[in-house]
Amino acid sequence: MIGVTILGATGSIGVNTLDVLARRPDRYRVVALTANSDVDRLFEQCLLHGPDLAVMADAAAAERLERKLVEAGCVTRVASGVEGLCLAAGLPEADCVMAAIVGAAGLVPTLTAVRAGKRILLANKEALVMAGPLFMEEVRANGAVLLPIDSEHNAVFQCLPAEYSRGLSRVGVRRILLTSSGGPFRQRPRLLRDVKPEQACAHPNWVMGRKISVDSATMMNKGLEVIEAKWLFDADPDMIDVVVHPQSVIHSLVEYLDGSMLAQLASPDMRIPIAHALAWPERMESGAERLNLFDVARLDFEAPDLERFPCLRIAFEAVRAGGTAPAVMNAANEVAVHAFLEHRLLFTDIPAVVEAALTALPARAATTLDMVLEADREARACAGKWIQDSALGVMP
Ligand code: NAD
Ligand code: MG
Repeated sequence: MIGVTILGATGSIGVNTLDVLARRPDRYRVVALTANSDVDRLFEQCLLHGPDLAVMADAAAAERLERKLVEAGCVTRVASGVEGLCLAAGLPEADCVMAAIVGAAGLVPTLTAVRAGKRILLANKEALVMAGPLFMEEVRANGAVLLPIDSEHNAVFQCLPAEYSRGLSRVGVRRILLTSSGGPFRQRPRLLRDVKPEQACAHPNWVMGRKISVDSATMMNKGLEVIEAKWLFDADPDMIDVVVHPQSVIHSLVEYLDGSMLAQLASPDMRIPIAHALAWPERMESGAERLNLFDVARLDFEAPDLERFPCLRIAFEAVRAGGTAPAVMNAANEVAVHAFLEHRLLFTDIPAVVEAALTALPARAATTLDMVLEADREARACAGKWIQDSALGVMP
């Protein structure tokens, strides 16, 4: 039996992971589940999957969960806070940890799983964006295995030869092409200023959490993914291109020196990369609908519009600046997206907040976790002030 812990079990990726695991109860056992504050959903998941440990980041929520579990006669232990999340991440009974907390909150628990030498199924791209070099060094030092869940990176991984970690140029790779659906506003004719959160969250091809949905609408998601690809595959940003492909059938491609391009195609269903990484190097059923090429009929490709979607340009600049810049970008973006979702910020001001933070906090070295977390804190303060000033009518 393979023991699996899910960090972020109640989210979109967490729920999809439980769906895949439940197809092979003879092979997988759920060891721990964690969530932020959704007591009812984690309670139901505990009854259904019987983990040893359930963790709520929120202490009051953890107390409520514990009471409900005791009343239901469920033996699952309960813990809380970041300590609880880290306890779950490092439990010796788990071979495999799905890192599916959204945002910077996932960094410390995910690093704990890395340090425990687990097989990490990485959905939480923000952790790698914030702390790329440090994260990858910990993976190497602790013999952890890092498998990408992000559909694009999972596709690239599937199109690379097994020896790619010797260096992309050594295995003949010329380019990595990350595909993007273009999000809900690819063809919107007019200004994006008046976009509402519900419109930004209505992704044409994928059902996802609200934060990543907004990131897809601004294309910051693709920017985060460029940085994620740099660290996962040790790829120079000049080797990474973004291709808008509205059908979301090709999940990404690798171009080789001889002119060959390898692509991975599948229905847009996150259970496919999840099942791939769970079973790797074998294969398992995912429950996803099979791709019917006659229904797809055609595949379209366009260049991204960097004027309409400045976040993609900003991300390329941040990865080239290096050091703390990606952590600053990520934190400012999280604050801006949160404010937008609460109707406190215009959609078109999201990139403005991020650029203001990057200008105010020039890149410094980010060689320790403390340096990264300090940059994250400073960027959050800076972005918060920008949003407050603009609400007061002060030109930020
Ligand atoms: P979601 O919002 O649906 O779920 C997030 C999960 O994280 C929930 O379980 C929530 O309880 C937990 N969480 C939130 N804040 C927390 C905190 N402060 N402390 C502890 N736990 C916290 O998000 P999602 O769409 O499942 O995305 C999760 C991650 O996977 C993100 O990093 C996202 O970029 C990445 N990802 C998602 C998809 C997708 O299809 N949903 C695809 C690719 C990558
Ligand atoms: Mg993706």
